[in-house]
Amino acid sequence: MAFDIIIIGSGFGGAITGCRLAEAGYKVLILERGRRWDKTTYPRKPEDNWVWSNEHPETKNGWIELHTFRHMTVAQGAAVGGGSLIYANISCEAPRSAFANGWPQEVTYDELKPHYDTVAKFMNVQSVPDNQWTERMKLMKDGATAIGHGDRFKKLELAVTFDPNWKYGPGCHDAAQSKPFTNAQGVAQGTCVHLGNCDIGCEVDARNTLDRNYIPWAEKHGAEVRELHLVNNIEPVDGGYTVHFDRLPSDRKVGGQRIAGSETARIVIVAASSLGSTELLLRCRDITRSLPNLSPFLGHDWSSNGDFLTPAFYSGREVLPSTGPTITSAIDFLDRSQDGESFWIEDGGFPALLADYVKGLKSGANAESLWAKLLIDSFGHMLRDDNAQPFANVMPWFAQGVDAANGVLSLKQDILGSKQSLSLDWDIEKSKPAIEAIVSMHKRLAEATGGKPVVPPTWSVLNYLVTPHPLGGCCMGSSPADGVVNHAGEAFGYKNLYVADAAIIPEALGVNPSRTIGALAERIAAILRTEAR
Ligand SMILES: Cc1cc2nc3c(=O)[nH]c(=O)nc-3n(C[C@H](O)[C@H](O)[C@H](O)COP(=O)(O)OP(=O)(O)OC[C@H]3O[C@@H](n4cnc5c(N)ncnc54)[C@H](O)[C@@H]3O)c2cc1C
Ligand code: SF4
Repeated sequence: MAFDIIIIGSGFGGAITGCRLAEAGYKVLILERGRRWDKTTYPRKPEDNWVWSNEHPETKNGWIELHTFRHMTVAQGAAVGGGSLIYANISCEAPRSAFANGWPQEVTYDELKPHYDTVAKFMNVQSVPDNQWTERMKLMKDGATAIGHGDRFKKLELAVTFDPNWKYGPGCHDAAQSKPFTNAQGVAQGTCVHLGNCDIGCEVDARNTLDRNYIPWAEKHGAEVRELHLVNNIEPVDGGYTVHFDRLPSDRKVGGQRIAGSETARIVIVAASSLGSTELLLRCRDITRSLPNLSPFLGHDWSSNGDFLTPAFYSGREVLPSTGPTITSAIDFLDRSQDGESFWIEDGGFPALLADYVKGLKSGANAESLWAKLLIDSFGHMLRDDNAQPFANVMPWFAQGVDAANGVLSLKQDILGSKQSLSLDWDIEKSKPAIEAIVSMHKRLAEATGGKPVVPPTWSVLNYLVTPHPLGGCCMGSSPADGVVNHAGEAFGYKNLYVADAAIIPEALGVNPSRTIGALAERIAAILRTEAR
């Protein structure tokens, strides 16, 4: 076998297992469909390459993929470093209660705690220093206090490096105010100057993303990371597996042909995200039939993690959602004290560039594209023309909650009958109470602080949701009757075939998931290190 371990995908699951197994001396290959980005190549203008398309990856290989289903749009990353390139940096533990039902008995909060701590240390997480509160943090605290729940407000841990001496004041956002430093993995970074662009890449490298810690550490220990490699099949062979992929042309402006290739390894770890891993394994089970014995549970118990956003307008208050880290704090109702539902409220933020981008889209040639329509519908009405910060008076009240985790992903013939596409059956009824509890709390908080909440008609009329936190599809379970992989991530029926990403999480967490995915990946790598030699 050419490699000990092939890992498919380089997000939280792939980067972390890859790093720990390379560190342990295994010969590791990470295959990633997306490209490697840095601050000199981040997309910035409307015409730049923002969006990933699995249909046309030769030319559309940007870093965000929007997967649109009948009742749900899922946003996810496509890059070396996966979702971390475009995420809002929140790194939080799930509450103990999240593990009470639906998990294999081996996986508990106490079991994961040391791994949570390892991820936090490696990604150097920290909260916004007390001398650097953003206007949204103040509004969150005011809102919690105004409704009598001030004690539920908390600052969140972020994978961002702050300079404790930085302060708001004239010229404070100038990149020259960012202090350069070398992180524990030997990578150059700078400190946060509250530019507000976290979700679209930080100009001063203050975000502690996977391409600045786990991935370089994996490479330092001999792991090979191949960008622009789209995996399409996994096939058992004597002593291991062959992984088949298409190499995508590296110059996206030129486009060109894909080149088919393959590599072999004794162990394969699928870490292509909730949708990516589930779709790849469904294709292997049902289309190529290379892995026909995968569990019938594949695709089941998918969750949107109860994500919801309600914008509120404040005529007398500057909220400045484009200043400072995208999300900073939470008001914690995970204890089911409100309407019997478990959720927490967060402040949201919009990159300043989003305003210019949406303005450009409204008048541009691509205004009719799906991506443009989604952004214009979501943000167009919030724009204010007379201000350097066009969203200045908008508070994006954000939240996650424990939904019913009852979605089913499967492959279905598309309308033209030409191919099988990923489809989501999503019955909203059982998840409605969780979303309605969030909406009602958003309204309460906004009204208690002088804001005017506007519940998006996509929810109030259509019950349509958008989530950046897809979970499940290849869930952990105790047997093929209730799961696809066991507590260690190994697929039922296939020795040395693992899944190690958001796809294995069997229930909604009700909080941002990356640290839990990371902790599970650390645990799977630790088990493999002791057992797989
Ligand atoms: C805008 C946004 C903001 C977010 N903010 C937060 C936050 O603040 N905190 C938080 O905890 N979470 C956040 N998330 C969610 C978080 O990014 C995901 O939960 C996390 O990245 C999932 O980790 P993963 O390892 O499962 O998959 P990913 O990180 O998505 O990595 C999967 C990788 O596999 C690659 N891949 C897929 N298919 C293939 C294939 N066939 N061949 C090769 N490679 C493939 C993908 O390109 C991707 O790079 C956010 C997400 C988005 C979109
Ligand atoms: S707020 Fe700005 S400087 Fe700070 S991490 Fe986010 S993008 Fe970087």
